[in-house]
Amino acid sequence: MSLNTVAAGKILTIMKSVPIENSWSFCPRCGTRSEVASGNPFACSECRYTHYFSPCTAVGALIVDASNQMLFIVRGKDPGKGKLGLPGGFVDSKETAETALIREIKEELNLDVSGFEYLASFPNEYAYGGVIIPVTDLFFVTRVASLENIVIQEVEVHDWKFLNVQDVLADMLAFRTHEQAIEAFRSANSEHGDATFGVGVGSRRFK
Ligand SMILES: [Zn+2]
Repeated sequence: MSLNTVAAGKILTIMKSVPIENSWSFCPRCGTRSEVASGNPFACSECRYTHYFSPCTAVGALIVDASNQMLFIVRGKDPGKGKLGLPGGFVDSKETAETALIREIKEELNLDVSGFEYLASFPNEYAYGGVIIPVTDLFFVTRVASLENIVIQEVEVHDWKFLNVQDVLADMLAFRTHEQAIEAFRSANSEHGDATFGVGVGSRRFK
């Protein structure tokens, strides 16, 4: 084994993502080194500071055109670079989920949200920079004023496409929660007797 191989192996070990609750070695308040691997909560033995690793919040939009095709982005960044995702993103501090939805759709695709309905939430995990953070994904069935003039946000979004959801296999999606949201959307539509969306297609594709 060459030195380079050893070095590459070390980098891979370093790059392996760890849950954030296992990644803290120092108290962020007083700087004391933690004697044991942190858990949830992180508890400092010196200053007694306690930190709970609660999930942050993200929003995702299910946007369907007149021919019942759903709008997907091709992710420009990891996690899931090159895979499909629903448009959306993280909710900022002091921002409502609804405002985040409107902002993210404008930022990512230059589309103006004209209405939305809450669909469902699913717990997600977001691996970035070697750390995995817990996320609560909130999904909204979203309408936009017009689907003309889509302009993607460079870096974050590589491309966009409208697809029949039955053509979108689970492993094409960056996140399991997006698969779950699409499934919830299809179930809701079939309950409401929508004959034009997802009917006659095996839902196993999304399991
Ligand atoms: Zn401390």
